Amino acid sequence: MGYETKLFINNEYVDSKSGEKLSVRSPQDGSLVVEGVQAAGEADVDAAVAAAEAAFKVWRKWSGPQRAKVMMKMADLIERDSEKLAKLETACMGQPITVALKFMASVPPYWRYYAGFCDKLQGESFPEDGDSRVKITQYMPFGVCAGIAAWNGTHVTACKKIAPAIAAGNTFVFKASEKSPLGAIALGELVKEAGFPPGVINIVSGGGTTGSLLASHMKIGKISFTGSIASGRKVQQAATNSNLKRVTLELGGKSPAIVFNDANLDNALAMNSQGFLANTGQICAACSRTLVQEKIAPEFIKGLKEKFENMSSVMGDTSDPKTALGPLADQAQFDRVMGFLERGKKGGAQVLTGGVRKGEKGCFIEPTIFLNPDASAEIYTDEIFGPVLSIKTFKTEEEAIELANDTTYGLAASIYTTDVTRAMRVSALLEAGTVTINAPYGGLLNAPFGGMKMSGIGRESGKYGLMDWLQAKAVVFNMAVPSAD
Ligand code: NAD
Repeated sequence: MGYETKLFINNEYVDSKSGEKLSVRSPQDGSLVVEGVQAAGEADVDAAVAAAEAAFKVWRKWSGPQRAKVMMKMADLIERDSEKLAKLETACMGQPITVALKFMASVPPYWRYYAGFCDKLQGESFPEDGDSRVKITQYMPFGVCAGIAAWNGTHVTACKKIAPAIAAGNTFVFKASEKSPLGAIALGELVKEAGFPPGVINIVSGGGTTGSLLASHMKIGKISFTGSIASGRKVQQAATNSNLKRVTLELGGKSPAIVFNDANLDNALAMNSQGFLANTGQICAACSRTLVQEKIAPEFIKGLKEKFENMSSVMGDTSDPKTALGPLADQAQFDRVMGFLERGKKGGAQVLTGGVRKGEKGCFIEPTIFLNPDASAEIYTDEIFGPVLSIKTFKTEEEAIELANDTTYGLAASIYTTDVTRAMRVSALLEAGTVTINAPYGGLLNAPFGGMKMSGIGRESGKYGLMDWLQAKAVVFNMAVPSAD
């Protein structure tokens, strides 16, 4: 199958000047998916930024309804092509087709939601207050903006960044992960068909070097990054060392799920197995530390082990609609997760189930549970980003909260209880950007998403996600000047 491999700049697919190429191998069986994906070097990034800079002058003159119309069309086109786009994610990073289609289904609503804001970017006014001055506020776009994505949900990440940014009047350069570049490249065709003026949305491929060119570019006013803490830190540093561009960071997590004695057991089991293992555990907000109260613990632990073992039977061929779990995204991610498992086992952690590779071929790892690992063990403290969960038991609510917050991360948390007062009390004390009661985190279109502590800076989704792409300006009228007549 022939794939588009060029850069998308100024509404055209163009060859990169860098001459650098990427290839992608299928994590399902190691076969070559694509070679010759063109990576953007400095001259290419400059060209994309120049196109976006020129487009900003055009785009900001379009009325709100005009902008909304093309964004709505973009939503329709993504919906029309969602199967094709989903298959590109399946091919590159091994997301089972059923999961990829579910992810795709969440994308058009984002484009439509933010299209609705195009003509609602109003400011405020403050009356003269004894100082002869009337003040108004206006919300201004930054100009050229950029987004960098991880590989675990390219289209969801892309729409959460591009749609609010351009609704706010900015223009954009987007870079997907080198592990899964094809879906983003394919969006270019739709950008053109939707009727966006050239340069409003540009798409470049490449790895960390291309990302750092964006992060350090002097003409990019704001960047939103999704990925690991290590790379996020570099993006922040590059922004500081260049033009102090504004930075949003959507980083990793080691989120807790707290299961209280009064939880609905069946629900807690389903949510901590199928729910946790969605996308093979490669979800930033996945609750990979399950804290369970002592009385319910024996039954919960036995039940979760069974659920994980059952889930192993729906891990396999990513093109089969019955498959729920795929491989890890690539050999590097597989090696990384296997390294955690080996070191965890060597360190004496008890493996309740899994802990090994699944099969002989591809990047598959058995759904794994470690029981009561040491609080300082790496498998308990670090984000693994795979199908690996740790369970710890606790006695009291206070102890659960302490354990939950004892981490440098703060992305998400879940509470399993039928006591609504307890849910309110505990959720208020958890240091996490999102707390979900009786379920894992599920995509939120209109509520904010983002991290506390080292899980990130800024928020995406909802009105918060829009306002992050705007800067407030005050305009002050001196009313003390006498009129000419
Ligand atoms: P990664 O940090 O290795 O790569 C992410 C992106 O950053 C890629 O596009 C990569 O090319 C780019 N990059 C690498 N070095 C860079 C640099 N120096 N400057 C600029 N860009 C650079 O992360 P990954 O392995 O692709 O993704 C997994 C991580 O992403 C996990 O930690 C996961 O939790 C996180 N994640 C977070 C969210 C969220 O919304 N909070 C969502 C998805 C994934």
